[in-house]
Parts: sequence; structure tokens; C-alpha cells
Amino acid sequence: MVTMIKKQSNKASFYKSLLIAHVRHYGAVSRKQLGQSTHIRMPVVTALIRDLIAQGILVESGRSATGRGRKQILLSLNSRHGFVVGIEFDLDRMLAVGVDVCGNVVAKRSAAMPAQKTNAAIVQELIALTESLIRESGYERSALKGIGVADPGIVDSREGVSLLCSLMPEWRNVPLRRLVESHFTVPVLLDENTRAKTLCEHRHGAGQGVQHLLLIDVGGGIGCGIIIDGQLYRGHSNMAGELGHVRVVENGPICNCGSSGCLETVASYPAIIRQVIKALQDGTQSMIAELAGHRPAAISMDHVFEAARQGDKLALGLLDQAIRYLGQAVANAANLFNPEVILLDASMAGAENLMVTPIRQIVHRQVIAMAGNTPEVRVAKIGAEAAAWGVAMLMLDQLFDSPVKGAAPWAPLKANAALKPL
Ligand SMILES: [Zn+2]
Repeated sequence: MVTMIKKQSNKASFYKSLLIAHVRHYGAVSRKQLGQSTHIRMPVVTALIRDLIAQGILVESGRSATGRGRKQILLSLNSRHGFVVGIEFDLDRMLAVGVDVCGNVVAKRSAAMPAQKTNAAIVQELIALTESLIRESGYERSALKGIGVADPGIVDSREGVSLLCSLMPEWRNVPLRRLVESHFTVPVLLDENTRAKTLCEHRHGAGQGVQHLLLIDVGGGIGCGIIIDGQLYRGHSNMAGELGHVRVVENGPICNCGSSGCLETVASYPAIIRQVIKALQDGTQSMIAELAGHRPAAISMDHVFEAARQGDKLALGLLDQAIRYLGQAVANAANLFNPEVILLDASMAGAENLMVTPIRQIVHRQVIAMAGNTPEVRVAKIGAEAAAWGVAMLMLDQLFDSPVKGAAPWAPLKANAALKPL
């Protein structure tokens, strides 16, 4: 008898998870639609929905507007059921967002990276920023369901460990998930920031509805997020998309990854700035020096772009070289993956004519010319919080994962042999 009750309750929780995953993916749906697509018998759907509403997970959210016959009551996730925190960091700053269970950003906060970039200081600051975001989220602390962390380097997301980061040499083998989990006692997920950004653009930004997508993330490093058949692609050991480390220069500069001549060593923003400083030290005249107040440490890409707009030879020359390497690498990636859309990082939005147009031209010149094979090159549109929001969405996916093994939570739920009626 006890076994039978346990079996029934396991089955009920399996079906509840399935119903939640379905509502989360499709938005407002009626009980009838849920019954039809999940193949769960209607009396069971009705009973389980009653429970989910009593638990505060689902809410009734109006009636269907179209269709013949009686208008159906629609069900949605209850945004007040809870929230997750997404947090991202790079060399200079960290940014956290609170995201309700429906996927909406409800709070945002940023902080500078600690002056002393020891691993302990970084972890402490990540925890402090998350604490202050929770206080400002408008939710009780008990409504926090999980935390996603987007790391600028390479991570082992299964083990929750930050493996290495070319920007921060000390940031190696940090058991970040365990450290954050032990403080907050909620599930914590660790992933790479390019991947998180890509997911965010795919769900909420310039990549919505695109089944085959590449996002080229240019900044401190260079990464490539990959969506295949509507889902993030991670590769065999979670390292797919390391576009910054394809070799583009024989005997080129040494890269922090241990190799040399990597794309990142000649075309990332720090690499361009390094080349500017070297040229100025060698006596090259450029208005970049003036724009940065003659302080080499203050030179930023904004100065380089501004100088290029005004026809500065050094800025134009270095940008042209970086764009040729970058455009070539993006075109190679396009020939490998055959994407429908390529998104360029949102940081290029202010440099449309200087960066986006020439990269688009190189891609269109070098991608195999066949009808319908030319990928559209767009600028990503979410901006600064893309990785934090994206890793929060990954956390929500984990929390509300479809119980059907192998099915993505947002994948259409098909009739499945595993779904025998209760
Ligand atoms: Zn490298």
C-alpha cells in the first residue's frame, strides 16, 4: 500500500513538472490544451492544476480570445512564486540581475571588481553583490530559488568549477559553485558568459526565433556562442566555441592559453589597445594619446573608435588589421556551422560603420555562395546585462526542467511512450 502511494505521488510530481515545463514554454494555455499535448487524462490535469494553483506556482490569467466555442480559462506561471539571481563578472566589474520565474528582470545592480583581484576577494564581492540584490528584489529571501554565475573564462559546468581565465591568471580551479552554494543554500549553476549571452539573445534579443545562430563575443577575449536546432551547443567537454584561440598568425604573440598566434592576441580589445600603446611608445603620432589625456593606462576602445572616426591613421590601421583577422575567423565559423544569423557583440553597436559593416562584407565574401546560404549579420541588442540575464535563464531551465529525459524544457512536448495515463 505504501509503495503504491509512493508510486502515485512520484507520478503526480512527474506530471506536475511536465505541466509546469509546458506552461513555461508556451505561456498562457488552457487546461484542455495541456491535456491534449501532454496526453494526461483531463480529470488528472484538472486535479494537478488545482494543486499547482494552491501551491502558488500557477495562476489563472484571463480567457482565450479566439477560437470557436466557450472561451477557455488560461493558466500562466505565477511571477510572484519566486526569483533567481544571475551574476556575471569580468576584469573590471560585476553585474547582477534578479529574474522572476517568468523570466522578467526585476532588479539590477553592479559593482566594481575588488582592487585586489585575489580569488577570495572576488568570491566575497560576488556574494556581497548577490546579497544586496536580494534585499532590493522586492521578494522575500525565502523566494530565492537559485543563483546562476556567468564566468569570463573556461568552466567545468558539471562540477561547478572555474578552470581558467586568460584575463585573470590567478583565477584557476576555483570551486565557485560550492563556495556560493554553501553561503546561500540554494542551487547554484556555473556557466561561461558567452554561452549565457547567446542564450539571452536567443530568448529575449536579436536571435529570437532563430534555429541556427552564432554569437561573436568580442571584448576582453573573443568567444563564440552556438545555437544548433534551437539549443545551446556545448561540445564533447563543454569547450565548444573557443574562437579566440584559433591560430591566425604563425609564430604570433604568446597567448594566455599557452599557445601562440591566437585570434585573441591580435583582435581582442586588450590586444588592440596593447598595439596602440606600443606604437605610441615607438613614436607614432596619433590623436588617441590626446583623447586619453596622454595617460597610456587610460586608453580605451572608445578612444580608438573616436580617433578612427576622425581619420586617425594609427586607429584606422589597427582596426583594419583586427577586423580582417576577426572577419576571416567569423567567416570560417559560418562555413562550419551554416548559421541563419550571426550576432556581433552589443559593444560594437556604437561602431557600426567601423566594425560591423566590414565584418559583414568579409563574411558575405567568404561564405560559400549558394542560394539561401548567406547568413544575416546583426548586432546583438540586450547589452550589458545579457550574460547575467542569460545565466539566470539557464538556472530557471534547470529548476523547471522537463521530466522527459533528453527533452529541452522549451522543446515541444510530443506524445511519448513514457507518458502513460495515470
Ligand atoms: Zn589562445
